[in-house]
Amino acid sequence: MAALERAGQRLTPQRLAIAEALARTGKEATVQELYDQVRRKHPYIGRATIFRSVDMLVEAGLAQRLERPGHVSAYIWCEPGHHHHLICTSCRAVEDLGETLVAPLAKSIARERGFRVDHATLDFYGLCRACAAKRGKPAAS
Ligand SMILES: [Zn+2]
Ligand SMILES: [Zn+2]
Repeated sequence: MAALERAGQRLTPQRLAIAEALARTGKEATVQELYDQVRRKHPYIGRATIFRSVDMLVEAGLAQRLERPGHVSAYIWCEPGHHHHLICTSCRAVEDLGETLVAPLAKSIARERGFRVDHATLDFYGLCRACAAKRGKPAAS
């Protein structure tokens, strides 16, 4: 977790476990899910520690917060400075979306609305390739 150290964060074993749990899933995870996972190795960890640690990760630019329906926050591991994601609502896999697809949109906005976009955070929710393919087939009986 060199990225954490670069961000100037003190690496307690618990924080490291939380960061690793989030980085390892490749999916969005709620505090509760991280809690369940990290607790297997660190049985005395508290939910408040998870909350503080994910906040720290978000501040350090290593994680991003997503809104799930019902005002639940989920978190994803993310390289610093990255802002766009494709989030599968079925398997909850998260894919990074690069600027190449988003830049033309910012240009259109500048052209049509006269608004200069400096910064954008775009999250697209839907079905990933694998889940869309599964849905396309008739339901297995
Ligand atoms: Zn990302
Ligand atoms: Zn999926």
